[in-house]
Amino acid sequence: MAEKILTEPMQFAAKRFLEFVNNGPSPFHVVHECRKKLVAAGFQELRERDKWNLQPQNKYFVTRNQSTIIAFAIGGKFKPGNGFTIVGAHTDSPCLKVKPVSKRTKFGIHQVGVECYGGGIWGTWFDRDLTVAGRVLIKRNDKIEHHLVKVDKPILRIPHLAIHLQRDINDKFSPNKETHMVPILATSIQNQLNDSPSEDKETKKLCKADSHHSLLMSAILKSLDFQCSSEQVVDFELCLADTQPAVLGGALDEFIFSPRLDNLVNAFAALEGLISSLEGDSLNQDPNVRLINLYDNEEVGSQSAQGACSSLTEIILRRLSVGDKTSFEEAIPKSLLVSADQAHAVHPNYSEKHEENHRPQFHKGPVLKFNGNQRYATTAITASILRLVAEKVDIPLQEVCVRNDSPCGSTIGPILSAKLGMRTVDIGGPQLAMHSIREMCCASSIYQCSTLYKGFFQHFPEIDASLVEI
Ligand SMILES: [Zn+2]
Repeated sequence: MAEKILTEPMQFAAKRFLEFVNNGPSPFHVVHECRKKLVAAGFQELRERDKWNLQPQNKYFVTRNQSTIIAFAIGGKFKPGNGFTIVGAHTDSPCLKVKPVSKRTKFGIHQVGVECYGGGIWGTWFDRDLTVAGRVLIKRNDKIEHHLVKVDKPILRIPHLAIHLQRDINDKFSPNKETHMVPILATSIQNQLNDSPSEDKETKKLCKADSHHSLLMSAILKSLDFQCSSEQVVDFELCLADTQPAVLGGALDEFIFSPRLDNLVNAFAALEGLISSLEGDSLNQDPNVRLINLYDNEEVGSQSAQGACSSLTEIILRRLSVGDKTSFEEAIPKSLLVSADQAHAVHPNYSEKHEENHRPQFHKGPVLKFNGNQRYATTAITASILRLVAEKVDIPLQEVCVRNDSPCGSTIGPILSAKLGMRTVDIGGPQLAMHSIREMCCASSIYQCSTLYKGFFQHFPEIDASLVEI
């Protein structure tokens, strides 16, 4: 029988990922999914505001803003001043977000005002069956509670203008982000049938919910698993999301067609890599702390309290380095950050966009990213360390470097390496259609990335010890 493209473990990892991405339509949901998996793996939740009593061989996690999560497992041989083995990724993706006052009605059509978050390929949001997901703050018994919400049906749509009314659409399509991208929620027919031409008429007491169409509010409240009135809603943050689930695709089921591959592939792989690295006895022998840092707000520059630019990472690492006065400073040169974020695979229809010697392909492994101008933080040293890890766990690697006449993305890698003075390597799975509402990658990269990160957690201290004073 012919060999299969995807081995059994690859298929297993890909299917688990599909579940993760389908359950993660907003950063809040992603953090919630991570929390569930960490708790199931025996991690204890900490709160930043409490005193911590951390013990070697134990596993912990902490969240900030419910949209960033840091999890760590302390090696049995760890003492303050020892290093950190870190994989960092991000929980957010470009999307549309519901505006604070979203209610609009035009020509008998109720619409929802939205804000563009990050650098999406906004044209891909047209003609998709959209819903909303995020968090809502609810007042119950004089307490403000945080609840996740996800409306499980397509309640919104941004229709294209017909080609007959814009004959040049196939030559140029550049929607105005303020005026052309307002999703439709409903017509106002229902109001007329109920003999209430305006929703405002029904409102007795002014509250936050009045900033939004009551139909949107009731869809959100119906998705909660308890009874709640719109007056109890203090505020919310909602992302729009495609209702079409992520799937395996291609004639041979070798691809993943999915939203948010950037960067849930690496958030998932970091989490799986950390948890699976703890099997057996390796943590007991580890002199380091193994961490995953999954940040919100990467897509908008990381400048937020929960973003990679904040002091959060340093605060956590310092709390792990309470010992001598210089324990933290001693730990930094013994540490390595893997900045894990998706990479661009070569596109067969646009292959000239890639530099001729650097054209990452599907199934050929995670992609090391290099950029002399420091848009990526990889150095010869950090790439070598990851190559040694990859060799140990039998995962192929590829390399990318952009053309001199091409723009280049960036990641949390340069931000954190500069802030912390920590050695960093940028890497990620190859994908197409980055920042589209529906992206595409190879199913093998889920297994390849998580196995690589698992190997990094298990082998970094010994590999680092083999480097001669560099
Ligand atoms: Zn990304």
